[in-house]
Amino acid sequence: MLNIVIFGAPGSGKGTQSDNIIKNYGLFHISTGDVLRDNIRRGTELGATAKAYIDRGQLIPDELMIDILASVLDSHKQEAAKGVIFDGFPRTIAQAEALDVMLAERGTAISTVIGLEVPEDELVQRIIKRGQLTGRSDDNMETVQNRLNVYHNQTSPLKAFYEQKSLYQAIEGTGSIDEIFARIQAAIVQLG
Ligand code: AMP
Repeated sequence: MLNIVIFGAPGSGKGTQSDNIIKNYGLFHISTGDVLRDNIRRGTELGATAKAYIDRGQLIPDELMIDILASVLDSHKQEAAKGVIFDGFPRTIAQAEALDVMLAERGTAISTVIGLEVPEDELVQRIIKRGQLTGRSDDNMETVQNRLNVYHNQTSPLKAFYEQKSLYQAIEGTGSIDEIFARIQAAIVQLG
C-alpha cells in the first residue's frame, strides 16, 4: 500500500496536488476539510459543531477528528485497498500519533510525507483568490491570519516529527501546478 500524507500550510496546494496524485496512482483521497464541509452542507450535527471552529480558523478537537478519520477509513476499505492520500490530517502531534496507531492496527503504515513549502505572502494571496472564486467561508482576510497562526503553533511541529522518522520530503510548492507535481512524482518514485 502507498499511504501518503500531503502536508503544508493552508493554501500550499494540498487539495490540487492530491487530485493529481489520485489520478496517477489510484489512491483513495481523504480530505478532512472536505469531510467537514460536506457535513456542514448536509446540515448534520457534526457539521454544526465543525462550522463554529472552521469559521474562526481553529482546529476541530483532536478526539473528534481522530474518530472521524477512523470511521472514514473503515467505511472505504475497498477504495483504500491501494493506499490513501491523507490531505489535511494530521494537523497536530496527537493526530499524528493516533494515525500511526490506526494504520498499524490495520496492518499498514505511512509511506511518505510530502511537505509543500510555500512562502507566507504567496499563501495569503492564494487563499484570498480561492475565497473569491469559491466563496469558501474561511478564505477571508480575518480568518487567514488565525489559520496561519494555528498552522505555525500546532501543525508545523509535525515537520520535525516526520523528519525524525525519515518520512518527510520537502517539495518546493511554487511554480506551475505541473512543475510542482513533477517534483512530487520524483519524490514518490524514490520510494521504489
Ligand atoms: P482544510 O480544508 O484542510 O484547509 O480545512 C479547513 C478547516 O477544517 C480547518 O481550518 C479546520 O478548522 C478544519 N480541519 C480540517 N482538518 C482538520 C484536522 N485534521 N484537525 C482539526 N481541524 C481540521
